[in-house]
Amino acid sequence: MDMIIYNNSIFERDSINIDLEDRGYQFGDGVYEVIRVYNGKLFTAEEHLKRFIKSANEIKINVPYQVGEMQEKINELIHTTSLSTGIVYLQLTRGVSKRNHAFPSPPCEPVYIAYTKELALPIVPMKSGVTTITVEDIRWLRCDIKSLNLLPNILAKQEAVDSNSFEAIQHRGTIVTEGSSSNVWMIKNQVLYTHPANHYILNGITRQVLLSICKKTGFVVEEKPFTIEDMVKADEVFLTGTTTEVMPVIQINKQRIGNGDPGTLTRQLQQLFTSEIEKQCGNLSKSFD
Ligand code: PMP
Repeated sequence: MDMIIYNNSIFERDSINIDLEDRGYQFGDGVYEVIRVYNGKLFTAEEHLKRFIKSANEIKINVPYQVGEMQEKINELIHTTSLSTGIVYLQLTRGVSKRNHAFPSPPCEPVYIAYTKELALPIVPMKSGVTTITVEDIRWLRCDIKSLNLLPNILAKQEAVDSNSFEAIQHRGTIVTEGSSSNVWMIKNQVLYTHPANHYILNGITRQVLLSICKKTGFVVEEKPFTIEDMVKADEVFLTGTTTEVMPVIQINKQRIGNGDPGTLTRQLQQLFTSEIEKQCGNLSKSFD
């Protein structure tokens, strides 16, 4: 039996109906989050839930639950669904009302759902690295909001899939912004570069975890925009994301990065990131050697 969260209570999935005039369904008028689960434990849950609330507030939706009560219910769902390795998907829409672009007045009740999904660790690509393509970033100018409107991201990812690549790296003009569902990093002369957290990118939680790891361990990072040319000539390139973790990029538009193998520093960062997961969620028994 599939169990899900609906408006912060647990129900059987089949007992819940989503209205055809839910504004999430009609307008993409809502926000979402994906939180990783390792060994049945949430990783960086508070950070994701805070971003969920921030995204909702940015589009003027008030989340009717506190971080603590959402986290408690999600943990209950993880337990109920016996999830060990996977993700929790959360979504909040402005709610149900007669179709009209403007906000309903008086406001409607937001609709909140969450469900779990099993997901294997992406060990093989994490060891061997992935190939990527570049695409023009055609998104709106509030990419810092984790909105349900993902059409440009979907089109970019499909372009990657059609060219047998893992990810589409987006750029505005010559400047690299981020992947269709990941943040992008490059390393040149032992210095890490990633796009600053502004309205052009989503400030990834994985990105933030890695930045704090770098600070603690002495890796030098510059949150500074870089060009496609800089990236293709970099010593190492990698992606970060909740499901992507720390993923080496070995090829961009059929051009090899470095010697075409995952870079040494990227490998070290993978190990450090794994240690961080293990601190919160227990032993993962995975190795990148
Ligand atoms: N950028 C975009 C556009 C994304 O969809 C994601 C994945 N949520 C990320 C970056 C990485 O963010 P996080 O590390 O929080 O998963």
